[in-house]
Amino acid sequence: MRVLLLKPNTKPKSPHPHTLSPNCLYTAPQISSPTPTDFSSQLSKFTHLQNIKNGRKAHAQIIKTGCTSFPFLHNSLINMYAKCGQTYESLLIFESTQENNVISWTSAISAFVRGNMPYKAMSLFSRMRREGTQPNQFTLSAILPSCWELKNGVQIHSLACKNGFSSDVFVASALVDMYSKCLDMVGARKVFEEMGERNLVSWNTMVVGFSQSKIYGEAFGFFRGLLAEGIRPDQVTISSILSSCANTCSLWSGKQVHVLSIKLSLNSLPFVYNSLLDMYNKCRALEEAMQLFHSLRDRDAITWNVMIMGLAQNKSPEEACNYFCLMRTEGIQADDVSFSTVLYATAGLASLDQGTIIHSQAIKSGFHSNACVASSLITMYSKCGSMIDAYKVFSEMGSSRNVVSWTAVIAAHQQHGLGTRSIELFKEMIKDGVEPDYITYVCVLSACSHNGLIEQGFEFFDSMVRDHGLRPGHEHYACMVDLLGRVGRLEEAKQLIETMPIKPDSTVWGALLGACRIHGNLDIGKEAAEKLFKIEPKNPGNYVLLSNMYATKGRLDEANEVRRLMGVHGVRKEPGCSWIEFQNVTYVFNVHDRSHPKSDEIYEMLGRLEELVRERGYVVKMRFALDDMEEENKEHRLWYHSERLALAFGLISMPAPAPIRIKKNLRTCGDCHFVMKVASEIFKREIVVRDVNRFHLFKDGSCSCRDYW
Ligand code: ZN
Ligand code: ZN
Repeated sequence: MRVLLLKPNTKPKSPHPHTLSPNCLYTAPQISSPTPTDFSSQLSKFTHLQNIKNGRKAHAQIIKTGCTSFPFLHNSLINMYAKCGQTYESLLIFESTQENNVISWTSAISAFVRGNMPYKAMSLFSRMRREGTQPNQFTLSAILPSCWELKNGVQIHSLACKNGFSSDVFVASALVDMYSKCLDMVGARKVFEEMGERNLVSWNTMVVGFSQSKIYGEAFGFFRGLLAEGIRPDQVTISSILSSCANTCSLWSGKQVHVLSIKLSLNSLPFVYNSLLDMYNKCRALEEAMQLFHSLRDRDAITWNVMIMGLAQNKSPEEACNYFCLMRTEGIQADDVSFSTVLYATAGLASLDQGTIIHSQAIKSGFHSNACVASSLITMYSKCGSMIDAYKVFSEMGSSRNVVSWTAVIAAHQQHGLGTRSIELFKEMIKDGVEPDYITYVCVLSACSHNGLIEQGFEFFDSMVRDHGLRPGHEHYACMVDLLGRVGRLEEAKQLIETMPIKPDSTVWGALLGACRIHGNLDIGKEAAEKLFKIEPKNPGNYVLLSNMYATKGRLDEANEVRRLMGVHGVRKEPGCSWIEFQNVTYVFNVHDRSHPKSDEIYEMLGRLEELVRERGYVVKMRFALDDMEEENKEHRLWYHSERLALAFGLISMPAPAPIRIKKNLRTCGDCHFVMKVASEIFKREIVVRDVNRFHLFKDGSCSCRDYW
């Protein structure tokens, strides 16, 4: 497409006073028409003011006066439209002539970069070189921000070296920025160290780059370097270093940065105080977070969201829900992030009543159809045990489904033991042209493992890299170990771990230990447990598992030795507790709890349950009694595990056929698992137990986990 431009020979028309018609006599005296230089300064003024309206008027006058052919005006026009965000018009002017010079090429490339069209910018850059125009330092610093792939960036870096521009401060800054965005911090540091002149922007690039690459030690190092150079940090520096403090849980450093931000008077900027709030939350310093939050005057939705998320992540989901209500009573409009955050908290509470209330509020505010909120709704319903509602939200989403919502629905089915349906949904998603991500693969691989689909599992595992360019992480390897372990192929599982390209972590070894427990393989189990003791010496679960494995084989001395080791490391087993919700109240039960007002009825129900279960061949499996720290009266204590108390309460208070939903803080024991299965059959009730690892949906005498958990 070309724009018609006036030829240079059409002389600028200026009205001659003698040719004016009589009725024009009273018009204001005409000043002589502006020169190209006048136009140029006008254009740069309008560019600076971002005043596109006046800019267009000036353009019209330039056309009228036939000044378009002046190369510098041509370039100023490209530049003005580009800087005012009018990418398309800028390019039309660029394409209107064959005689573009390096300045016009650079302006046009900048237009694409500004318009967030990096690929178009790149292809224009290539065309420029093909058509024989050599880039200068401005072209190079303009094109570098659109290098999202390291290989393009490296090519431009070598071009800059070849043409002698690599030491130019703008080019060098853009190079540091490019390497940092491509997360090649070695490259970024090299250019930074060779830079003659460094300013706040280049220092910030290093701090932000290292922080985003999760190399926090270096981020702190560069932050100290910046201070040592006497450079005054700005809000970008402070927010970025606070995020490093948050992610390393360095409360002490975080507090120092807080003091510094007060000294620099940056603490009243929303960007800074929201980062401070996030830092306190992530460092689990809830008191400090609350104090800061309540000291802020103008709290907007973002600030509230940070606080609500902090509460939800700091194991205070009830408080998170309260703050959500408070926010609304203070007249702050909840946005999509607020709804997603509070739904995350509700999912943590496993409170279906609360979740339903928030769902209806989302509908009233019109956010329920937002893809992010809808995905959170799917997860919330699924975690509260209601698959029907979860699927309903998903099916109502229609065309707004994205990878997050697909993943949420795949995860929901997988967690409810509907693995085959998960795999079907995964295939539908691919057919729909939605690219799966890291988490989608975790869900679909666990679905394969739960259903013993070994071949299919390996096929999906291979397709991750082959078809979608995703590198398998710890969670994926853990699924594959689980997949092999479940069917007893423990040697192969161990071999897979040994050939992993990344260092296996606790999830991977944990999967192997779990498989060894099921198949009673002490040799490999011991090996896995020892790795786990090194990686997470404070996790009681591993000690309990290994100790139980010894006990099952009758090797009680070794079992006790593991228990002793636990004591040596100062590890205490978290006491088991379960919760159940009834008429908007959450009831918490501990082992052998008698604090509930309806205790007598609960214990009576438990007694009856015991009789009924015994009639069906129930024998206490003493090995599970070892899950309790106290050795005496094991059978008795076992019978009063918290989830059974919650079940008995559910049976006496909730009318049939309402499902009974229980949440437990630990892994549910094999004995309770058996009792739940039988209870679901006897009472014809669906029982959902969400333990620390997974969902168990008990129905008609069997469990969705197929007795493998
Ligand atoms: Zn139990
Ligand atoms: Zn189960």
